[in-house]
Amino acid sequence: MEQQALALKYRPMDFDELVGQEAVSRTLSLALDSKRLSHAYLFSGLRGSGKTSSARIFARALQCESGPRSKPCGTCANCLAANPHKMSHIDIMELDGASNRKIDDIRDLIEQTKYHPNMGRFKIFIIDEVHMLTREAFNALLKTLEEPPEYVKFILATTDPLKLPATILSRTQHFRFKRISDRSIFEHLKKILQNEQIPYQEEALGMLIRSGAGSLRDTLTLLDQAIIYSSYNVTSEVCANMLGLINAESLNALFECIFTQDRDSLLKMLEGFFEYECGMLLDEMSIFLKEKLLKGNDTRYSSLLIDRFFRIITQAKELLFLGSENEFVLTLSAFKMLEALKVESIDMAIAHLEKGFFESLPKFENTQSVAQKLESKTQISQIQTQTRELESQKEIPTLESAKKEAAQAVLMQQNMESKILNSNLTEQNITQDSIQDHAKTLFALLGKKISAHNYDLGEIFASDVRFVSFEDSVLTWETLAVGKNRDRLIGAYSIIKNYVLEVFGMQTQIKNISKPREEIKEVAQIQNMESKTPQNVESKNLDSTLTPQEKIQREVTQALQSPLLQSAQELLEIKQVKVRPLNSVEI
Ligand SMILES: [Zn+2]
Repeated sequence: MEQQALALKYRPMDFDELVGQEAVSRTLSLALDSKRLSHAYLFSGLRGSGKTSSARIFARALQCESGPRSKPCGTCANCLAANPHKMSHIDIMELDGASNRKIDDIRDLIEQTKYHPNMGRFKIFIIDEVHMLTREAFNALLKTLEEPPEYVKFILATTDPLKLPATILSRTQHFRFKRISDRSIFEHLKKILQNEQIPYQEEALGMLIRSGAGSLRDTLTLLDQAIIYSSYNVTSEVCANMLGLINAESLNALFECIFTQDRDSLLKMLEGFFEYECGMLLDEMSIFLKEKLLKGNDTRYSSLLIDRFFRIITQAKELLFLGSENEFVLTLSAFKMLEALKVESIDMAIAHLEKGFFESLPKFENTQSVAQKLESKTQISQIQTQTRELESQKEIPTLESAKKEAAQAVLMQQNMESKILNSNLTEQNITQDSIQDHAKTLFALLGKKISAHNYDLGEIFASDVRFVSFEDSVLTWETLAVGKNRDRLIGAYSIIKNYVLEVFGMQTQIKNISKPREEIKEVAQIQNMESKTPQNVESKNLDSTLTPQEKIQREVTQALQSPLLQSAQELLEIKQVKVRPLNSVEI
């Protein structure tokens, strides 16, 4: 006897046999039994979710001579002709929207609606994939759909209801077919195999169901194949082979390599994986990780790590979608997972830091690598950029009170205005002298501000610091201070610097020419003293004009004192970073 495909053989005859669509079955059955019928229905849902089967069952129930009823008699002429397995009813027209999408096709259909049914109660039009119709075809259909003859019923089916015009949607009763649950499909497959008396392994059914992706029809087709491929004994091994699936042991070994950071073995293993379809492999990895997560018996597979792995897999799928090469995507993903483990250990390091167990930190080299990264020149230059941006905030902590910060903001604004004024002046080609005059005025203002902050300090500043010039955002002054005064100025440097930025602008740099009143050879420039760390003692003598190298040197010094780096130091307790960037950049 000829072997019939399972999908056809087990096509449901009535709503009771419909798999996994209980809500739809119930609603349609009630409508039939209560004779509350609409003239147009829309069935939407994934492919293989039972839309066409339902349309046929529904059409048969409408035509049954003792109906319409949810359980047709099955014996009358109409029931026999409208057999869902072999639809041959003259008044049930099935149309494929994909191949009959033009306006002429719809005109033919409309023409047919003018004639009364031959043998049945209704003339029923089932249009599959209705979203494929052209716009003109939809427009042509619209009028008939709205007010069809009372003997006409439409059943539209689509996998993509969003593509339908709103005018069509509003004229139909919409039934949404949900994805059939794996459990329902599983039960259905078991029933079929028991019925067919074919031995099977439940794991094998799981593989088929996953490959069928919620489509009962596709899953049944796969089951057909598996039965033949396995010579009527459906085992998981046969199914894995047939579907080109990778087995769980291989995946286990792959993740072992990742956990042990064994790059060589990982590469070898990946070569073996290249023969599989990459998208499928990624799906299998997801399933593998999901099982690890649910079982929770392997502590290495923390939810945090699995989350990271899932993200990597998702990104890999996106790359595949964009047409990236399979082997590249797979290798990249595997190495990203290796990296993800390193991030994990940094997380652990931070957790340890937070607990105050810095000394007992197991993965100290990772923290060091962070520090090393900070030391790199690029980082330094970034920090320099940020330093300039953040310079306004640099000294604020010394002021401490929020009130003063507010006052600061006002002053900053004033300063901005003065800067704008300044640049305007420049644009108007005002002579250099008048700019210097303006700068002198600002310098006097600076003195007043310092004085207002602290009278004694203001006195020392006024007597011992003299304005030289202000050019290209460099304020040059000379200090005559010695002894206590010098110490006082050095101690208050950050406060003074703050006022300089306020008055002369945020970009302002201070160039100090030290001319101590006594003949002291010792270099006594204030720039030097702003550093509080002993490592910075070797900073440059600013008596001479700055060379470009010295400028870099100074910028590095400033970068080291940037709030960004200081908070990083506080957070991570990175002590060594204070000096090494200086050395590494030193010219
Ligand atoms: Zn009947």
